[in-house]
Amino acid sequence: MIAVFPEPYPDELVYSVFSRYSAMSGYRLYRSAAEDILRDPHSHPDVLFLGRCSEDAAARLAAYKPLGDVVMKHTMFPCLARFWPSERRRRTFEAITRMEGMLLRMARSYAAHTNVLRYCPLCAEEDRRELGETFWHRVHQIGGIAICPKHACRLVESDVLIGAGSPRFVSAEEQVPDDSPVTVCQSEPEVRLARYISQYG
Ligand SMILES: [Zn+2]
Repeated sequence: MIAVFPEPYPDELVYSVFSRYSAMSGYRLYRSAAEDILRDPHSHPDVLFLGRCSEDAAARLAAYKPLGDVVMKHTMFPCLARFWPSERRRRTFEAITRMEGMLLRMARSYAAHTNVLRYCPLCAEEDRRELGETFWHRVHQIGGIAICPKHACRLVESDVLIGAGSPRFVSAEEQVPDDSPVTVCQSEPEVRLARYISQYG
């Protein structure tokens, strides 16, 4: 039974919200958080999409905004489907919102671009200063982008695997160190491209 559930930050992945819930609940075992959040507590959480979450977790998310908005604002679905024909996009969107299958397949196809969650050290610094914690940003996971569109610094790879689903909930706050290297991109065309792509993510 979920008691207190964190409100998603703008551009935060659903996986990140669940990971913050797990951390704030003080669970020592993955299974304890998984029983609250996932429909099947033996499964792995979906890192990039919504996955099959419990009715309780879905209701907590929906208390902040409709699940359709959660899919569009807090999962990688818009980035993955932006060039799809509208009918395929609509059918997949509805399947994700209803938490039906195909998600693992989609995550694997997305993982062709990147295998782990990434972060921007300067965004993490800002988050900690302004919010008291950092989180996994959606914009840093967009395929084809290697730099933060806001700070133009190189994204850093974490240890959180995407492909087959993370084997546990790992919050950015526990994963991202305070002293990650900051490398600013000097290529103006690359910065412009990252900002252009991120607008349509
Ligand atoms: Zn940044």
